This record gives sequence, structure tokens and C-alpha cells, in this order.
Amino acid sequence: MRVLITGGAGFLGSHLCDRFLAEGHTVIAMDNLITGSTDNISHLLGNERFTFVKHNVSNYIYVDGAVDAVLHFASPASPNDYLEHPIPTLKVGSLGTLNTIGLAKAKGARYLLASTSEVYGDPLVNPQPETYWGNVNPIGPRGVYDEAKRFAEAMTMAYRRYHGLETRIVRIFNTYGPRMRLHDGRAVPNFIYQALTGQPITVYGDGSQTRSFQYVSDLVEGIYRLLLSDIDSPVNIGNPTEMSILAFAEAVREATGSSSEVVFVQPADERVQDDPKVRRPDIRKAQALLQWQPQVGLKQGLAETIAYFRSRVV
Ligand code: UDP
Repeated sequence: MRVLITGGAGFLGSHLCDRFLAEGHTVIAMDNLITGSTDNISHLLGNERFTFVKHNVSNYIYVDGAVDAVLHFASPASPNDYLEHPIPTLKVGSLGTLNTIGLAKAKGARYLLASTSEVYGDPLVNPQPETYWGNVNPIGPRGVYDEAKRFAEAMTMAYRRYHGLETRIVRIFNTYGPRMRLHDGRAVPNFIYQALTGQPITVYGDGSQTRSFQYVSDLVEGIYRLLLSDIDSPVNIGNPTEMSILAFAEAVREATGSSSEVVFVQPADERVQDDPKVRRPDIRKAQALLQWQPQVGLKQGLAETIAYFRSRVV
């Protein structure tokens, strides 16, 4: 296949580039580098089946020749990033989805949308099955990401229904691993950086809010299987091991061997407004239809991630 991956220089996009190249496909990675980095794909630049194009997919996209699959992964994805870039976040989820899906239609390509557990908002059911419609504040600080992704899902389903496009939607739950940005503001890089540099580990609120962290290789496997499947409705891909953020902070401290203290902080800005109180994927659909389930536990995943960050922390 010849595959277009938008956000291809980002954390997830670059791991997808690796996987598709390893499977023998040809990859075009497109990224405007707003939150991505060419560091993530520098090891691929000599590969003759790999091309990088610097482009903002919220503007019209031109790609020469045949394209067999389009994977739309471009978007700021950390709460800090979409608070800092609210308009680009809204644009890439809406206009970027329109442009990438229009390209897929023109090329007769299969289309895979990177959606998110944020479509469930601050969920009132736990775990979240794909049938749950969510609890999203459209006008809160997270609304720019959540609503853009909900719009993107609606657009993807409309192109499938109206134009018969081959579409897939993956709802991605918290994912971590090498190539996350050290300072993207999320819990995983924040805690690891703080632990490695002996600074206090900053738990927001009382730390009772929960998340379920999945290692990046498990996500990539789920996405690869989903693309090749015939499932055209949304599928959750995440690790169902749920823990409080306080317990996660302690796990990071232990895994790094750090003596940093865990402190409770109340950010005065919008960072924690509408912060989901619980999050855990119901993965029965992926288990049944993709024969997929996570393989990497927190201990192993954290060890790989910490090794990556250690090489970057001076
Ligand atoms: N969090 C925290 N300390 C930090 C960064 C994040 O306690 O330094 C909390 C945040 O409030 C949220 C959870 O960790 O409850 C996960 O946040 P993250 O930004 O990783 O992503 P989210 O799951 O909210 O998209």
C-alpha cells in the first residue's frame, strides 16, 4: 500500500510510519510540526519508501499519484497544547478532516480517523463502551479538541454513508512511550521528568481522578488490525488497567528509583477545568472483532519510556 499519515512526525504518527514501513508499505508523512518534530522521523529519511512533506492539512492537500490509505493523526493532543493552540486544534479536526477525507475519496483510498476517549468527555459511565455518547462541555477549554474530534467522527460516518467511502474510526485512550515530548504537559512526561530531575511530582487536585495508560506498541497493533479489518464503526483501543493519578505518580517514582516527593497542586489556570474524573476503556469490541488486547504492562512500558527520557534529560 501507499499510505498517507498526517501528523506523521508526531508521537503516534511516527510510530505508525515505522510500522507501515516494516510491513513493506510506502509511507508519506505529512506534518506542519506545530507539535511534531523531525527528530521523530530522522531515522527514516534515508528510506526510499518514506517521504516527509511539511504541510498544514487544514489547508488544501495535494498528493501526486495513487494513495491506498489515509490515516488522519494530525492534531495537538495534550491538554496544554490544545489550550495553547485552540484554533489550529479546531481547524485540524474539522477542516483537516474534510481535506484528508476528500483526498481519500478522490484517490479511492481507505480512511482511518484518529479519534479519542475525549469524545466521552467527563464520562458518567465507567468503563466507557463505544455505545456511550459522552458528557462533553462544548464551551470549556477542552471543547476545542473534544468537539473537533466529535465533528470528525460525524464527518467520517457521513462520507461512509453518503459516498460509500471505506472508513475506520479508532478511539484512542491515554497512550505513552518513547517520542512523547518531554514538556508536552501531560502526566506521563511531567512525572517522569520531575522524577528524573529530583523535582516534586505534581499531582493535580487530590489525585483521585483515574486514567488507564496504554503502551504505544499496543496501540499501533490495534490500529494496524483495525485498518485491515472491515469494522466501520468506532473501536476503543486502550489498556483497561485503571489507576488513580496519585497511584500512577507513585508508580513512576518507584520505576525511576527517584526520591522526589509527590505534591498536590491546584493549577490556577484552565488546565484542570472539566478534567475527566474517571477514564477506562471497555475493550470488548476490539477483543472480539480484532482479536486484540494489550500485551505490555505498566512496569515494562514505563521502563522503556523512562530509558528514552533518561537519554534526553541532562
Ligand atoms: N495531571 C497531574 N499532574 C500533571 C499533569 C497531569 O496530576 O503534572 C493529571 C491531570 O489533571 C489528569 C491526568 O493527570 O487528571 C491525566 O492528564 P494528561 O494531561 O496526561 O491527559 P488527559 O488524560 O487529561 O488527556
